[in-house]
Amino acid sequence: MEKVFYFLTWFTQGSSFLVPRAYAVMHRMHHEYSDTEQDPHSPHFFKDIWDMMLHTAKIYQSFITGERLPEKQFTREYLPVWKSLDRIGYSWPSRLAFAAGYIAFYVAFAPSAWWYLLLPFHFLMGPIQGAIVNWFGHKLGYSNFNNGDYSRNTSPWGILLMGELFQNNHHHAKNNANFARKWFEFDPTYLVMRVLHFTGVIKLKQLTPISIEENKSNTQVHMQQKNKVYSAADY
Ligand SMILES: [Zn+2]
Repeated sequence: MEKVFYFLTWFTQGSSFLVPRAYAVMHRMHHEYSDTEQDPHSPHFFKDIWDMMLHTAKIYQSFITGERLPEKQFTREYLPVWKSLDRIGYSWPSRLAFAAGYIAFYVAFAPSAWWYLLLPFHFLMGPIQGAIVNWFGHKLGYSNFNNGDYSRNTSPWGILLMGELFQNNHHHAKNNANFARKWFEFDPTYLVMRVLHFTGVIKLKQLTPISIEENKSNTQVHMQQKNKVYSAADY
């Protein structure tokens, strides 16, 4: 079943396919170092969104080429790997073939030439989604929890981004598949996961609620990291 999802990851991301293991490592780093200098994409260390995305791309690239190896703590837990599909998905022929497919779809169905202006969004869907979530998810919005970082929730945009913009909730309990907490928040991806769970395709793990003590100590660790942010930013 993992291979089916892996294949769909390549097929749906198409021209902007990201190698899952490299992205997973970066995401684990993002949680561990949230909004400190070691966070691969904290908006608080870059002058603009482009700068942040270039930095993210550089780290991602270095993991793919092997120029940089991830710290052991980020590869200890399971990572899905399908090297031959990664090689295909990461290659220019694959990216260009998908781009040609998107163009062909527009040629066949677009009612006017204006619609072609949407094509760059298809070509770059991955980085665009990443830029929105990583920049605004740690910059704009409200917090339900004090996580000791700058993670925020944004409603209703969080709903439109399939739950991804409930970053504050997600950082509070990263193992909770549901990113929504309040009655006015809704995570559509969780709904999809519930359906897949109900039909036996995936198995959602039962959550062990974090105790208040544990949460406090997590917050303290993050506060220490955050202090580092301030001292680093002073220079
Ligand atoms: Zn985040």
